[in-house]
Amino acid sequence: MSIDLVEKTLDQVYSNNALCSMDVLWLTGEPLVLGVPYFRQVVDLCLEKAPPNMRPQFIVQTNGTLIDENWCDFFTSHDFIVGVSVDGPAIIHDKQRLSLLGKPSFPDVERGIDLLIKKGVRGGAICVITKATLSLPPDELFRFFQEKNIAWSYLLEASIGDNKSSPSALTADDLPSLDRYLDRLLDLWAAHPDSYIRDFEQISRRIFGGAQPRPDADNLGCLDILNVSANGDFYWGNPELMTATLGPLTDIRFNLERDDVWRIRSNPKFTAYQHQVHEGVKQCREQCTYFEGCQGGNPAHKFYEFGSFDVTAHTSCRLNDQLVQTLMTRKLTIAN
Ligand code: SF4
Repeated sequence: MSIDLVEKTLDQVYSNNALCSMDVLWLTGEPLVLGVPYFRQVVDLCLEKAPPNMRPQFIVQTNGTLIDENWCDFFTSHDFIVGVSVDGPAIIHDKQRLSLLGKPSFPDVERGIDLLIKKGVRGGAICVITKATLSLPPDELFRFFQEKNIAWSYLLEASIGDNKSSPSALTADDLPSLDRYLDRLLDLWAAHPDSYIRDFEQISRRIFGGAQPRPDADNLGCLDILNVSANGDFYWGNPELMTATLGPLTDIRFNLERDDVWRIRSNPKFTAYQHQVHEGVKQCREQCTYFEGCQGGNPAHKFYEFGSFDVTAHTSCRLNDQLVQTLMTRKLTIAN
């Protein structure tokens, strides 16, 4: 994104006096190819233009291969949170993530992770779980992250949308294997209080964490996330909908050169989409016993499976949210 466009984006975003906190997140592709000087320029602008008393939190999702001392110094000096995409030990990671030249990427990723840890950069790892992962014993996957002492979360690659033709994507047929896999991961997580698997932490806090404020349906559905592409196109919603906004959801894609990011929230095309997302969350709240732990799921997963947001159960939530909650409550019942 040109620096001009970065400035234009910030001017629009910061024009809202009600804005009191903001995360700036770089993701998709490999953001670090832009280099430290570019990042420094953007971060400086974000800080210079920010309203008084508001400091954005900077976050980047990277494959980790380009990380060096220079990057680490930059990250620590601006308190970045760095997420590294790593799918476990080499034996599984290199099955899923080869370099552009078709070479194993694990050695570079691991070097990057180790440097981030050594330099005390805040962050964690994101691990994509596919059919291939299920061939690796869960103990080995857990041990990999545990030995590195890093917080991690996982994403299940479900057979929906673009992943439909992927042979490694998980389907409903994988539910029994996934049940055993996550069951063992839960045992390991519970047996190691120093481990951190974000998905388990989040769900357990929601369902066992005592009295919590009722989630506000207006804030569910990821509609407070502004996604801006390098050409100035933008939309509000889940980042995973980016591809869909180039096709069936083109109506909710706007451009900074013509449109204002805040004013577009009252555009009828946006409000119709917002209504449909909220309707899906409402149906989940009214009909699903897993709502408390899941809070209505990821709208993108609903859309990629059904072409609509106002639906409830879908493959991804059956393979993860519903399954993990069932396993957790089953374990608690046994423990009692
Ligand atoms: S588990 Fe599925 S059906 Fe239930 S609340 Fe979550 S997304 Fe909705």
